[in-house]
Amino acid sequence: MLPSLFIDIVAFIFGACIGSFLNVCIYRIPEGLSIVYPGSRCPRCETIIPFYDNIPIISYLLLAGKCRTCHLPIALRYPFVELLGGLFGLASVHTFGPTVQAGVVFVFIATLIVVTFIDLDHRIIPDRISLPGNSVFFSGGLCPSCHCLASPRHRHCCRRGDSFRRGLDLSSHHRKGGHGRR
Ligand SMILES: [Zn+2]
Repeated sequence: MLPSLFIDIVAFIFGACIGSFLNVCIYRIPEGLSIVYPGSRCPRCETIIPFYDNIPIISYLLLAGKCRTCHLPIALRYPFVELLGGLFGLASVHTFGPTVQAGVVFVFIATLIVVTFIDLDHRIIPDRISLPGNSVFFSGGLCPSCHCLASPRHRHCCRRGDSFRRGLDLSSHHRKGGHGRR
C-alpha cells in the first residue's frame, strides 16, 4: 500500500501537468488550432518552449515570469491554471482515493476550467468542448449525494442526479440560440 502523502504528491504533480495542457487548450481551441501539434510556444515570440522551461509552476518561478528568448512577461494565468490543475488533482484523489472515479471527476473539473477561461476571454463555450463533454460526463450520471459518478447503479440509488445533470447541461446553452460554434 502506497503512503497517502506519496499519492497526494503524485496527484498534485499530475494535475499541474494537466493544468499546463489546459493552458494550451484555452489558448488554441477558440482559434481552431490543434491542441496536440506543434508543441508549446511562447505566445509572444513564437519560440518553441523546451521541456526544461515547461515544468509546471517551477519554470515560471525560475524564469521570473519571463520568456527565456524574448524576455517579455509570461501571463500569471499560466502558472495559476497549472496550480489549479494541481490542487484539483489533489482534491480529486483526496476525496475519491486513487480510483477511476477520481480520474473522471478530475477530467470533468479540468473541462470546466478550460470552459471558464475561454468564456472569460471570448464569451463563448466552444462546441468542441461542450458537445463531447455532455455525452461523456452526463451519460454516465453525475450524482453529488451518493458519489457514484460514472456508475450505472447511480440510476437506482439516487434521483437527484437527474436534476443535477439538467442544471449542468452545457449544450442547452447552444440549442437556445447559443454562442459561437468553433
Ligand atoms: Zn518569447
